[in-house]
Amino acid sequence: MKTEFSLAQLADPDIQEADKILRACVHCGFCTATCPTYVLLGDELDSPRGRIYLIKQMLEKDEKPTADVVKHIDRCLSCLACMTTCPSGVNYMHLVDQARVRVERDYSRPLVERALRKVLSLVLPRPDLFRYSMWLARLGRPFADLLPSPGPGSVSPTLFSRIKAMLALAPRHLPPPGPAPGSVFPAEGERRGRVALMQGCAQQVLAPRINQAAINVLTRHGIEVVLVKDEQCCGALTHHMGDDHDALARARANVAAWGREAEQGGLDAILMTTSGCGTVVKDYGYLLREDRDCAAAAAQISRLAKDVSEYLAGIELKPSGRMGDVKVAYHAACSLQHGQKITLAPKELLSKTGFVVKDVPESHLCCGSAGTYNILQPELAGRLRDRKVANIASVEPDMIAAGNIGCMVQIASGTSVPVVHTIELLDWATGGPRPALN
Ligand code: SF4
Ligand code: SF4
Repeated sequence: MKTEFSLAQLADPDIQEADKILRACVHCGFCTATCPTYVLLGDELDSPRGRIYLIKQMLEKDEKPTADVVKHIDRCLSCLACMTTCPSGVNYMHLVDQARVRVERDYSRPLVERALRKVLSLVLPRPDLFRYSMWLARLGRPFADLLPSPGPGSVSPTLFSRIKAMLALAPRHLPPPGPAPGSVFPAEGERRGRVALMQGCAQQVLAPRINQAAINVLTRHGIEVVLVKDEQCCGALTHHMGDDHDALARARANVAAWGREAEQGGLDAILMTTSGCGTVVKDYGYLLREDRDCAAAAAQISRLAKDVSEYLAGIELKPSGRMGDVKVAYHAACSLQHGQKITLAPKELLSKTGFVVKDVPESHLCCGSAGTYNILQPELAGRLRDRKVANIASVEPDMIAAGNIGCMVQIASGTSVPVVHTIELLDWATGGPRPALN
């Protein structure tokens, strides 16, 4: 694609990067077929190619984005299915991330929407605040049905539809908190490795059992696990809302905290059980590339970052041989399959430990969770969830496994089939407890 940035614009490293990405696009349109919003809406401007054009114009003209441009960028899930499909290697992720920062900087959203986004970016990355907000949501839940719904077929979110979506996603019960930051879990038997396990923010409130399962599996197989003190939210939530100031501050804090731990105790890897976090931590090296004080350390942290399934694929697991014929539908989280290109490891681990693994039709399509998407775009997210749940039901599973808490909550809100994390099944299959089912 031909671009027309001025020399002055190209002096900005972000514009240089955008120019490189835009020039790689040959506007073939292959990506449209796998884009969830294009599949649902059939509008070119809700496809990757259409959005690339909109972003190109916005950056080249250096004008404030219009409400229409913002609408189509907001509807993008950042699922990155387009990157998997693109034959030209277009890095849509870095382009749309830049566009979101530009939108937040130059576009004035309606006051109510600004307030809602502010609340989400304040609450979601802070486990204590998030816990209180879940208690409040439980109180508000019985009143959700009194709120007006948008007209049938509408895909335009309203404040009420967003509040309804938030209340619907709040769990009925909250488990007690998991182990404290700074805890160390020694390896059983001879120590074969040492890893940091990222504690996550929403996940540690909603389902601390997931990281407990990871600790069980890792220590059982000779790996010492540390929960690093001073670790923060990875920054993914605010990054995807265009608040790079907050996201980069969190990234720097994590690079420092994990770097200290690696120096003092040694780390073979930094593991994530939430693939949405993993995709962003693996990108710290890029995000902080212009920060002279932090770039090299950030790149090193990105090299150490691994999804828990990716790490376990290099270890011989010892199954207890008692799984029988439990049929598991494996839901591939977008951040794992498109963001990190990890497609086989989770399924192979489940098969090797005795589960019957079923692929889900249209597995490339997002479930609609996508960070805060199911709150900010509840109508589109609901349609994607229903489609995902119907596809999962077609393989008649006993359980659904996923590697990302956002997907687990989203899918569980539309099905009675138990939804668990892949690591919970691996724990069960190697001698741990049966997962606590929803
Ligand atoms: S598939 Fe890639 S090259 Fe083709 S239009 Fe989409 S982004 Fe551009
Ligand atoms: S990230 Fe997902 S929703 Fe956004 S353009 Fe690409 S395929 Fe479509």
